[in-house]
Formats: sequence, structure tokens, C-alpha cells
Amino acid sequence: MKPVMALVGRPNVGKSTLFNRLTKSRDAIVADFAGLTRDRHYGNARHGQHEFIVIDTGGFEPTAETGIYMEMAKQTRQAVAEADVVVFVVDARAGVSAQDHDIANFLRKLGKPTVLAANKAEGMQDSAHLAEFYELGLGEVEPVSASHGQGVRNLVEKALEPL
Ligand code: GDP
Ligand code: MG
Repeated sequence: MKPVMALVGRPNVGKSTLFNRLTKSRDAIVADFAGLTRDRHYGNARHGQHEFIVIDTGGFEPTAETGIYMEMAKQTRQAVAEADVVVFVVDARAGVSAQDHDIANFLRKLGKPTVLAANKAEGMQDSAHLAEFYELGLGEVEPVSASHGQGVRNLVEKALEPL
């Protein structure tokens, strides 16, 4: 059984860009993986020694109670339930938001292995923005650039090697 990685985070942080980078596809693959629900976005990924399944999700709004946001939150919860490891994507340029705190609280309660990835970090390795993500209580932040490919290999290793 390949490990399953779920990409979680508020809208617009770059989850789908990271998904495409990990699966190396523009038209993200929707495949029929045994035992996994069909209504989310699954892809096959291979990085070095690691072969795994990635789940892309809509933006997560854990406190949403209505409409599309509630549906996205539900799907995200299901994706996280199916995953062996969660990659929580935040926006290195925007800094920490209230929504990031909500998601972090949800993930900490869950106790599933979680790696924090600060996306859009191209050319900002020394930014103070990266340090502020420690306040989410999920440990060290991994700077990545999904659109440029930087840090993606480190992220994959950090997420999958402990499994
Ligand atoms: P999602 O809503 O979390 O799935 O985010 P998307 O993948 O749709 O990306 C949202 C926006 O962020 C798009 O305009 C992307 O081009 C942009 N984006 C994604 N990754 C990066 C990155 O690494 N650096 C920069 N500068 N922009 C990015
Ligand atoms: Mg998306």
C-alpha cells in the first residue's frame, strides 16, 4: 500500500499548484484508487525513492456551516481521514491568518502526522514571515515554492520518511 498525503490549507495558498508539481501533471489525474472516495482529487506521485498518492482539497474552513464552504470542509476532513500524512500549506507571503490558526487547531487535535509547508517562498529564505509560522504549534516550517519547484524534494522527504 502506497502512503497517502493530503494537501490541506485555506484557499489560494497553492495547494493545487503543489499537487500538480508532485504529480507532474497539468491535468491532474483522477484515478480509481481502491478504498478511497472518488469525489476528491487524487494523483500518483513519485519522488526519488518515494511513491505515494496525493490528495488535493478545496480550501479548508473548519468552522464553516453553510453551502460550498461546509462542503469543502467536509471533503477536507475526509481527505485527512484517508491520509497517512497531512501537508498543511500556508502562504509565506501573506503570513499567518486567523484561518490558518483554525486549521492548525483542527490538525493538532487530530494528532495525525502533519508537515507545515510555507508556499510561495521563492527568494525569501530569510523572511521574518517564515518565523511567525511557528506560532501555529506544528513545528518547523518547510519553505517551498510550488510554482518554481524549490523545497519540494525536502518537503516530500520530511513528510514521508517518518512513515
Ligand atoms: P489553492 O487554492 O490552494 O489550490 O491555490 P492554487 O494552486 O490555485 O494557487 C493560487 C495562486 O497562487 C495561483 O495564482 C498560483 O499561481 C499562485 N502560486 C501557487 N504556488 C506559488 C508559488 O510557489 N509562488 C508564487 N509566487 N505563487 C504561487
Ligand atoms: Mg486548489
